[in-house]
Amino acid sequence: MTTSFAPEIDLIPQLQCETDTGIATLPLSQEVSFRSWQQSIPQEYWDLGAEELVARIRAARAALGTRVVVLGHHYQREDIIQFADERGDSFALAQYAAERPEAEYIVFCGVHFMAEAADILCAPHQQVILPNVEAGCSMADMASDPDVRSAWRELGDYFGGTDDIIPVTYMNSAASLKAFCGEHGGVVCTSSNARQVLEWAFARGKRVFFFPDQHLGRNTADAMGIPLEEMALWNWRGPAGRLGGLAGEQLDRARVILWQGHCSVHQRFSVTQIEAARKQFPGVQIVVHPECRYDVVQAADANGSTAYIARYVEQAPAGSIIGIGTEINLVSRLAKEHPDKTIFCLDPVVCPCSTMYRVHPAYLAWVMEGLVRGEVHNRIEVPAETKRYAKIALERMLALK
Ligand code: SF4
Repeated sequence: MTTSFAPEIDLIPQLQCETDTGIATLPLSQEVSFRSWQQSIPQEYWDLGAEELVARIRAARAALGTRVVVLGHHYQREDIIQFADERGDSFALAQYAAERPEAEYIVFCGVHFMAEAADILCAPHQQVILPNVEAGCSMADMASDPDVRSAWRELGDYFGGTDDIIPVTYMNSAASLKAFCGEHGGVVCTSSNARQVLEWAFARGKRVFFFPDQHLGRNTADAMGIPLEEMALWNWRGPAGRLGGLAGEQLDRARVILWQGHCSVHQRFSVTQIEAARKQFPGVQIVVHPECRYDVVQAADANGSTAYIARYVEQAPAGSIIGIGTEINLVSRLAKEHPDKTIFCLDPVVCPCSTMYRVHPAYLAWVMEGLVRGEVHNRIEVPAETKRYAKIALERMLALK
């Protein structure tokens, strides 16, 4: 049973999503936000309906054979995921592509940082393509390379050096920040291995500088027994030179310095939603992603990565009622795949990730048909020097297995 949970609260209109009306395929030109998506797609694709798009993508897929691999992130819409050779989280998908050297083209249906990660891990002869170059990630965008480097300099000035600070970036960050970590003795983490990565970091330094997601950093450090008073929140929005708005004593006792970034999708989940779900469905199990706020993770029965959430649902006995705090496309898919369980999204507005949603089938048709003609549109290429250092940070993470 698929249901969105609607507790007795008034929805705040500005929180409503452009896709609240449903996530069926509309022609590109009818999408409310198309104006802010990639416009440089030929007009012949603008008005194509679902049936024609499906037929054209399938035909291009067949013509390309093993020369192309189509990857679909868990949060992609159904009308995209149906074409994916593999679906998963960003890191698993990048690894999948790297293990298929016969594929010249990797079409990554996800967001920008994911395509960059695939380009870092793939062989030089493989070209990574992002169907809509406007598909970014609002969380990754909260940590820019200049802002992080400026904060690092300030931390170095304050502490008299950075030897004791280990930078850790979440997978959901620009390639340049992965490179920054590679260059400065740091590492990349995913939501599956964040704890293991922090343990690695604390074996090498006194403090961790964690970006861009404050919530993953805080929830992970808390699970390791680090008190909240030993975590400091770096406000990157304020003027430079003010130590992220932190007082000296806050920095002195901080073991984890958290970047003030968040995921706009996961930050929507609240304790009120969990309480309402428990009231309506006694016995409900609540599982949320660690990108959710601290109080939400505390109020849930379990938390973990998308892979963990999928496993949690799979392993629950038939008849279970499970409320989930993560992106709606994954929740809906899990509900469909487990009809013997009641699966619902905790968010009453059930808004999908609006940047993932930008990968409309028209863009997929355009890039795939281009490849059939030998034209590569929307290649994502990480500069060689950035790639070299980013790979070092990723390899440090891989070595933890
Ligand atoms: S769900 Fe959140 S972290 Fe993931 S791509 Fe969307 S905005 Fe970024």
